[in-house]
Amino acid sequence: MTTATLDAKSPDLFGVERKVETMPENAFAPRAGLKVWVGEGVVPVEQAVVSVFDHALLYGDGIFEGIRIYRGRIFKEQEHLLRFLESAKILRLTLPMNAEKLSRAMYETMRANGVSGDGYIRLIATRGVGALGISIRRTANPSIIIIVDKISLYAADVYERGLHCIISSISRNHVNALNPRIKSLNYLNNVLAKAEAHAANADEAIMLGIDGHVCECTGDNIFVIRRGELLTPGRWEGILEGITRGVVMELARKRGMTVAETSLVRHDLLIAEECFATGTAAEIVPITQISQIPIGDGKPGRITKQLMEDFAIYRNGV
Ligand code: PMP
Repeated sequence: MTTATLDAKSPDLFGVERKVETMPENAFAPRAGLKVWVGEGVVPVEQAVVSVFDHALLYGDGIFEGIRIYRGRIFKEQEHLLRFLESAKILRLTLPMNAEKLSRAMYETMRANGVSGDGYIRLIATRGVGALGISIRRTANPSIIIIVDKISLYAADVYERGLHCIISSISRNHVNALNPRIKSLNYLNNVLAKAEAHAANADEAIMLGIDGHVCECTGDNIFVIRRGELLTPGRWEGILEGITRGVVMELARKRGMTVAETSLVRHDLLIAEECFATGTAAEIVPITQISQIPIGDGKPGRITKQLMEDFAIYRNGV
């Protein structure tokens, strides 16, 4: 038996010579002057820190929401707060603020940052500081964090050409393991699939469950159109029950379309007439290529474009 040894000259586990690319330390620094809500109130971004003993860092033990602000108002605020409370309930996480206080804190953070137009809110609850063990009984003081900033996920041309997706080799977390309906701070399942997409020069990854059923993209829900019907994986499949997804289903029904939550497999994606993804940040984005196979004629579909228009009107009207 030989003993494995690693020294400074060893190639890393990718089998290539280690090449550390250094970036300026502030390459991805938050915007200067940003104000962040941490705990009890708003502080300058430099002071917005959590303990290294917070179980959110140690174990990904916490929850979050990504929320849009349109024209100074929080979009679908009640829906986001309800999903936040549901995630907390499953984690047995007692939040230090109720929905009303969370709402007030979000608006206060918006005001502190002078956001009166469009923007994005990241609402987070951490488990709090604890002992080095996973027990939630040995943690104290869950912490609320609210970041308000600008956002645009995909460049404008992506909405015109559509997303090019791979089907990830990484299965979506099983509903009986870590149900993706919990919007938890443990997003590694998604992170790995997204990294796989980028390594394959694709924009996004579509994740299947261990049974081969289509679940969702790494940060968006997925829809297909077949014979004029709008189909999307059911909430039982291992998906986040997206708020944009709900709006799009409502808008499609208003157009008189049949809408169904169902089970879909890879085949259903590839033969779809149209396909698109939905999410708070991306809104509605066409998917025009999957596994290098064009969806429909490889261009954003007619119904997809109609729904994008409907959504633009809807978001400004509520
Ligand atoms: N799925 C996942 C995994 C997500 O992270 C998101 C974005 N929050 C969505 C779907 C879309 O959900 P929503 O429309 O509520 O943003």
